Amino acid sequence: MRANYKLARLFVDNPIIAGIEFESGPEQTHYLTNVLRLGEGDALLVFNGRDGEWLGRLKPRGRKRAFIHIESQTRPQPPAADLVYCFAPLKQGRLDYMVQKAVEMGAGLLQPVITQHCQVTNIGMVRIQANAIEAAEQCGVLAVPQCRSPVKLVALLEAWEQDRRLIFCDEDSKTNNPVPALQDIREDKLGLLVGPEGGFSESEREKLRKLPFVTAIPLGPRILRADTAAVAALTILQAIKGDWG
Ligand code: SAH
Repeated sequence: MRANYKLARLFVDNPIIAGIEFESGPEQTHYLTNVLRLGEGDALLVFNGRDGEWLGRLKPRGRKRAFIHIESQTRPQPPAADLVYCFAPLKQGRLDYMVQKAVEMGAGLLQPVITQHCQVTNIGMVRIQANAIEAAEQCGVLAVPQCRSPVKLVALLEAWEQDRRLIFCDEDSKTNNPVPALQDIREDKLGLLVGPEGGFSESEREKLRKLPFVTAIPLGPRILRADTAAVAALTILQAIKGDWG
């Protein structure tokens, strides 16, 4: 079922069941009453990543506070997406964009990976999670992906589940077309790895290519920026092996 795009959709931390009422946080209250100009009894959608999506009604109290009264469920909680999205952290603006787009495109778990040419190593996990929530609110994704702590590429590969295929975006491929390699994949469990602005090192690339659970793919004849590569790779992956089918 596609999401309703006419109503505001808000992520909350509370458990949600029919008939309950809770206060919205100060920022959310400001957004609902001052930005969206919602008033007494106006409808909105609420989700918490666990209990599905619900229709709520706003009840402003005074100028600065508001409560949300929960009426009925509009969509049940779907299972979390299973796609593990592994990415080298980028500089802030592009990282925000990439995380938002990855969530829109159906990433199930966000895994920052530190590679040799990474220019960014202090990663704002809170900001990544906030971006994931924002994208989920906007696009009607009900299972908000968790963001895992950053790991080094070597550690990621050592701990990798052997029955999960890791699709590695290799900017140094000999071919341009990712479709044949993706069509050959038999596993249902998938992960995707996109490198940093500086690309993968030759030794990283060599190591990745040798691993039995890795499939290297090209993304056309041009070098893409990492955030573009993320969207391109997720698109082709979802179309051939994922939930677009
Ligand atoms: N600075 C590097 C490019 C890095 S692009 C260079 O000049 O070689 C950032 C990441 O996006 C890469 O590590 C890769 O994972 C992905 N990427 C970009 N273009 C790609 C392509 N044509 N094929 C496959 N992956 C690509």
